[in-house]
Amino acid sequence: MAEFDVDLFVIGGGSGGVRAARIAAGYGAKVMVAEEYRMGGTCVIRGCVPKKLFVIGSHVHDEIEDAAGFGWSIGQVSFDWATLVANKDKEIARLEGAYTTNVEKSGARIAKTRAVLEDAHTIRLATGEKVTAKYILIATGGAPNHGPIVPGIEHVISSNEAFHLKELPKRIVIQGGGYIALEFAGIFAGFGSDVTVIYRGDNILRGFDEDVRKHVRAEMEKRGITIITGCTVAKIEKHGRDFTTHLSSGSSIASDQVMFAIGRHPNIANLGLETAGVAINPANGGIQVDGWSKTSVDNIYAVGDVTHRTNLTPVAIREGHAFADTVFGKRPVEVDHATIPTAVFSQPEVGTVGLTEEEARAQFSHVDIYKTDFRPIKATMSGRDTRVLMKLVVDGASDRVLGCHIVGDGAAEITQAVAIAVKMKATKADFDATIALHPTASEELVTMRTPTARHVRQAAE
Ligand code: FAD
Ligand code: NDP
Repeated sequence: MAEFDVDLFVIGGGSGGVRAARIAAGYGAKVMVAEEYRMGGTCVIRGCVPKKLFVIGSHVHDEIEDAAGFGWSIGQVSFDWATLVANKDKEIARLEGAYTTNVEKSGARIAKTRAVLEDAHTIRLATGEKVTAKYILIATGGAPNHGPIVPGIEHVISSNEAFHLKELPKRIVIQGGGYIALEFAGIFAGFGSDVTVIYRGDNILRGFDEDVRKHVRAEMEKRGITIITGCTVAKIEKHGRDFTTHLSSGSSIASDQVMFAIGRHPNIANLGLETAGVAINPANGGIQVDGWSKTSVDNIYAVGDVTHRTNLTPVAIREGHAFADTVFGKRPVEVDHATIPTAVFSQPEVGTVGLTEEEARAQFSHVDIYKTDFRPIKATMSGRDTRVLMKLVVDGASDRVLGCHIVGDGAAEITQAVAIAVKMKATKADFDATIALHPTASEELVTMRTPTARHVRQAAE
């Protein structure tokens, strides 16, 4: 009789867990996956995919507005939120089915229930069943933060609820200045809501390049989104169907919804981590792992948002795949977390890869900046007041391109391709040797000849 019921038990059927389960099963391992909500996890069910569908839908508004300059006259248009939500739900259900089928086809078994650790080799399911496993992978993801409890917090929605609102809010207040706050600000504004963003710091998108932060804010404001910085939500009052949001500055805003998008925390509560001896990383509150995603317990691994490293779907997938290769494929693979491209699907979109100017200047003694902002060709006829930002951060000593930052339509798509060059350590000369593709916005990346700024740090005397 086998020593364990399964070779691998995966807790969580999201991006990281599903990839790990399928690859491990492909190597011949006997695999079981527990999922307490819906197969596909955050990205598929209430993250990247429904978000992107909403972004695409809300962008149609721009297309309609821009059409007139190109000769189109579009009559009365209307938008139906309920149709959008229903069609999105249909697509998400299809994807959930595809994820389930793919896992099952790989030979892994799915248990649609919550699972917790009983000890280092035993998992207890909410159904009462106990399963023993040689290896355990924790891929339980994360959940929205509620932040400090302010009076009226029970009225506040997170991105989870935003995907299922019965009606499009006419006015919405969104607290947060990161990915989710800005993406939803663009979504609601595109569909016609009056949007106010409340951010505690001096400018949105902390951690992004300073030029990007300024550019995005200015462009969002041009689109009618109100951005209030330097304050927080202190209290929310409900009057019938309306809310009054009181700010730390003393002012207040009336709205139909109040949303917080103030970060996410790893799903580690009541998982049995202490009983199994799995340590938490005190620096970030996620499960502590080494470069191979191994936890403090030899046979227990953790990948994705639950480790709170870089909380992005492709990263969770890469970590899950690398885990399966390492443990079941006899091919140790360490994930390289450097130079991960990322996009904020705000409107306009942000695409970024590599170092910001600020990071580069802290790390390198010679930094050259190539920066341009220009009116995109479409705006010349549509009349839209908008500008695109493109910026390259270059090591002045080696000529290597350290970072690329774009704000404008297609920024995410462009950045995915540029990321290959940056990862390959391409130099500015390599960019310059590439013939432009005309007429595009991204041709600017290979035609910027002269640095707009050159920063040379003097050696200490
Ligand atoms: P998850 O996908 O969260 O999966 C974890 C799963 O574990 C969940 O299904 C959960 O139900 C299940 N689970 C938890 N505890 C248990 C338990 N005890 N037993 C059984 N099951 C359990 N990333 C991008 O790269 N691009 C984007 O555009 C993007 N947009 C996003 C938009 C939003 C609104 C949000 C919230 C996130 C977005 N992300 C995006 C981040 C991305 O969704 C996550 O990084 C990714 O889903 C992490 O994958 P994971 O496998 O670690 O966890
Ligand atoms: P972010 O970390 O991106 O942003 C959180 C925002 O909330 C920041 O502006 C932060 O301010 C602010 N904040 C944090 N705590 C408080 C508080 N107590 N009171 C007021 N404001 C606060 O998190 P999100 O929730 O937007 O998204 C979570 C993660 O999900 C992202 O970091 C990303 O990894 C992933 N994601 C990725 C997407 C993509 O790839 N396009 C899209 C959506 C999510 P400060 O900066 O001052 O700390």
